[in-house]
Amino acid sequence: MMTNCSYQRRWILHSLLSASILLPSLSFSRSVAAVPLQPKVLVLSCIDYRFFENEQIFLNDKNLAHQYDWTALAGASLALSGFPHSEDATAFWDQLAISEKLHHIKKVIIIDHQDCGAYAQKIDTNLSKNPEQEKQIHRQYLSQAYQEILTRYPQLEIELYFATLAGEFIEIFPN
Ligand SMILES: [Zn+2]
Repeated sequence: MMTNCSYQRRWILHSLLSASILLPSLSFSRSVAAVPLQPKVLVLSCIDYRFFENEQIFLNDKNLAHQYDWTALAGASLALSGFPHSEDATAFWDQLAISEKLHHIKKVIIIDHQDCGAYAQKIDTNLSKNPEQEKQIHRQYLSQAYQEILTRYPQLEIELYFATLAGEFIEIFPN
């Protein structure tokens, strides 16, 4: 039979557990209702977590804070070539169509990056050991992505970037 004391202890423990589950969301999240909905851009990046923080800083520095939708696919531009599957290209086109329809975006920004595992898998496992060749290969796939987007959405602006491990964002001009 449960004593009052043990019941109270269990109740307190239960309360503490509930509080510990609730507190993080109260402490670290904010209402998205406070964020103005005015995206101008769809960003396509790789899934590589190492670059997320720099990518956000880069976009903020371009005065795009709270003004972009964001989709991430392994290899970024490489996904449009059907890597690893044709469905990945389809996923990008679906996201672009939704972003364009719902948020009337005016621009697509694609950010590839140095030392990309997806590019290593598709092109050459040693690709990142030759930085000049690596950048040229990215330029080739970024240019293909540029042309395909332009064909489907001639009204959209398109910007291409190559993010380095040193934190630079190099603008790539298509072939
Ligand atoms: Zn990558």
